[in-house]
Amino acid sequence: MQLIDGKQTSAQIKAEIAQEAAQFMAEKGRAPHLVAVLVGHDGGSETYVANKVKACEACGFRSTVIRREDDVTQDELLSLIDSLNKDPEVDGFIVQLPLPAHIDEQIVTEAILPDKDVDGFHPVNVGLQSIGLPCFHSATPAGIVELLKRYGIKTAGKHCVIIGRSNIVGKPLASLMLQKGVDATVTVCHSRTENLPEITRQADILVAALGRPGFVTADMVKEGATVIDVGTTRIPDASRKSGFRLSGDVDFDAVAPKCSFITPVPGGVGPMTIAMLMRNTMLAAQRHSK
Ligand code: NAP
Repeated sequence: MQLIDGKQTSAQIKAEIAQEAAQFMAEKGRAPHLVAVLVGHDGGSETYVANKVKACEACGFRSTVIRREDDVTQDELLSLIDSLNKDPEVDGFIVQLPLPAHIDEQIVTEAILPDKDVDGFHPVNVGLQSIGLPCFHSATPAGIVELLKRYGIKTAGKHCVIIGRSNIVGKPLASLMLQKGVDATVTVCHSRTENLPEITRQADILVAALGRPGFVTADMVKEGATVIDVGTTRIPDASRKSGFRLSGDVDFDAVAPKCSFITPVPGGVGPMTIAMLMRNTMLAAQRHSK
């Protein structure tokens, strides 16, 4: 069994991007610029945005965090998005999800100019990705495909089973795994899937993205499979300084001995998501400078 080290791979990708950013700086006289809009004080969102700011520093990007309180109205948020869409100094921006219940996340997502949508959530980018045209790929699925590539894990003709059909992980990952060049045979499972363990046992590459700690048990995994754990559920843990620990969707200790490759949580898919956001931002800056 080989552990897939997302932290190290992400650091390597960020170092590669930093070289591109330095060259961009030398040619254009400015750094790529990512803006993160953070609404409210959700602990997870605060951590994600702080990590994105750190990643920008590592890549030599400029970063700006714009904060709004929980009671910001949808119209106020849309007006902020409009100003970021028009701001020539902003290459790309994200609105950190989740948003408070009174704000419609779909309306917000669709208000972002596809050209600046470095999260790759806008329907235009989702559509471009699904037909294999250049676009901003959704970061978590792109990070998973990048990990498979960099670890030399064969995907062509292999059966990839994905548990979860969300718009940010399961569905866009299915479309990436299907693309020519990746060439997997893909099955997507969800809460209404019957005989799930029978299907997961057929997987050469099993991706768990459902948000249920320890859901994937050893009996659900074929000997020699590659297992990618996307789940990140916060479990209260008084022994940690943070007060919680992150738990993946895979029963790691029981499943790992059966795998050829497996990602840990934390340190697997999570850091790759941020690296792919940096890659999208670099791409956005290159596009805008043309
Ligand atoms: P989500 O929107 O809640 O979707 C969960 C999916 O899992 C749904 O499609 C649901 O099916 C399916 N599901 C739930 N229970 C199931 C069961 N018992 N059997 C089969 N399928 C089941 O979640 P998400 O946003 O995709 O996130 C999934 C997990 O990944 C979460 O832990 C999240 O924190 C984590 N995540 C991590 C990263 C990262 O960078 N590491 C990024 C994004 C998400 P239905 O559609 O039928 O309800």
